[in-house]
Amino acid sequence: MSSHPNFLTQVQRMFAKAADFTDHPKGLLRQINICNSVYKIEFPLVCDDGSIKVIKAWRAEHSHHKLPTKGGIRFAMSVNEDEVAALATLMTYKCAIVNVPFGGAKGGIQINPKDFSEAELERITRRYTYELFSKNFIGPGVDVPAPDYGSGAREMAWIVDTYRSLTDDPLTAQACVTGKPIAQGGVRGRTEATGRGVYYGIRECVSFADEMDRRGMTTGIEGKTTVIQGLGNVGYHAAKYMQEGGAILVGLAEHDGAIYNPEGLDIEAVVAHRKASGSILDFPGATNVETSAEALELPCDILIPAALEGVITAENAPRIKAKIVAEAANGPVTADADAILLKRGVLIIPDVFLNAGGVTVSYFEWLKNLSHVRFGRMSKRFEQASNERIVRALANSMNIDIPAEEMLALTAGADEVDLVNSGLEETMATSYQEIREIALNKGTDLRTAAFVNAINKVAVAYAEMGIFP
Ligand code: NAD
Repeated sequence: MSSHPNFLTQVQRMFAKAADFTDHPKGLLRQINICNSVYKIEFPLVCDDGSIKVIKAWRAEHSHHKLPTKGGIRFAMSVNEDEVAALATLMTYKCAIVNVPFGGAKGGIQINPKDFSEAELERITRRYTYELFSKNFIGPGVDVPAPDYGSGAREMAWIVDTYRSLTDDPLTAQACVTGKPIAQGGVRGRTEATGRGVYYGIRECVSFADEMDRRGMTTGIEGKTTVIQGLGNVGYHAAKYMQEGGAILVGLAEHDGAIYNPEGLDIEAVVAHRKASGSILDFPGATNVETSAEALELPCDILIPAALEGVITAENAPRIKAKIVAEAANGPVTADADAILLKRGVLIIPDVFLNAGGVTVSYFEWLKNLSHVRFGRMSKRFEQASNERIVRALANSMNIDIPAEEMLALTAGADEVDLVNSGLEETMATSYQEIREIALNKGTDLRTAAFVNAINKVAVAYAEMGIFP
């Protein structure tokens, strides 16, 4: 799986296809489409052994129609300017689709994190933050990074710590980055948010009988055979929630190969096996599949690519057997492959919608950081007391005694994680319904409908600013 030199062109082709379904002026469409700013950085790293390496990195801010801009930072050798700009573009549309009031951005550091010690990674991350700060490419109201492929809560903690030491506005400093550890101002539910959102999005999609009938499928997740590529943050959590929802995980793929068992694979057992052996391969009861790419062609109802972009191309698209391709990763299906799959009647749930759970919950984290109060803190006990009054009144009228433990379970008020998950579920369900409505009205596929939805919302934001008629 290599980086795609023309990933940005692919995204722009998708934009152009959708733009034809709108009636905005050409100039406005061009403004919505182009990437506003790209900052390229090269800085030295003094390695643990005293040698010096030059590190290449980028931050792209695609659209400033809403501020701050928002998008993860990818740590991977395949990162390049084109990829970062493409991912920033997708972020703009993603935020618009799930009604998160941010513009799109993305960062990238061209390293393989596995080649560096923890201390080296910390120095790289802190220096990158410093470089962003010095050019006003980071800040709670400017541009707010988050984790992406190859980065996580640890890197976000280094970023907030560095930013805090540089800013003269300590009151809002925590909101300069999301995906932080809870102790550093993170929000409960963020780590699993993208994978959980993937599950909610698929569940909503397969709940519509007309879509399922057309593909000879029944509604619901229960019993749907599923293959997942990539068991990192997004893939693992998507697998976990799909399994809990009743899906049968028949194939799981990682960078060194895949495993297949038509009877189903238990995700927790596979993860435990990987921890013990260093690989998912040779999992008891499963057949090894030589490459991750081959796993994409396994027979299944739902295929979830959750690693990197460009894995389904015009070359392998004709051999994909899944009836639904659920894009958990960003850009896993190239524009040519998209056309082939659609022609073959495959239902594609697009990345711009499906993996928006991460940015949705990042938005909640940003709000929490700015308000300096944990979600549920003001309401939890109040809710519990009023629930208890209702349950007691009912119990008294029916002459039943409710044990204290049961009472607690029946009346508990919502905690932070409950509210975050509920907000995420609502966002994914309503956003899917909006896209579906457009797809039905315009007679398009879901990706085109999602782009139409995003273009219209960004156009409205420009109109509200009074910049364009
Ligand atoms: P991650 O680094 O946590 O996990 C990626 C996983 O993919 C790793 O386990 C890696 O070993 C595996 N992998 C690498 N090459 C592979 C291959 N050829 N075949 C199979 N597996 C392979 O990254 P992540 O955060 O889970 O991100 C995955 C995708 O989801 C990326 O496209 C990212 O842009 C997108 N995404 C992530 C988030 C988020 O919140 N983390 C949000 C939106 C989109």
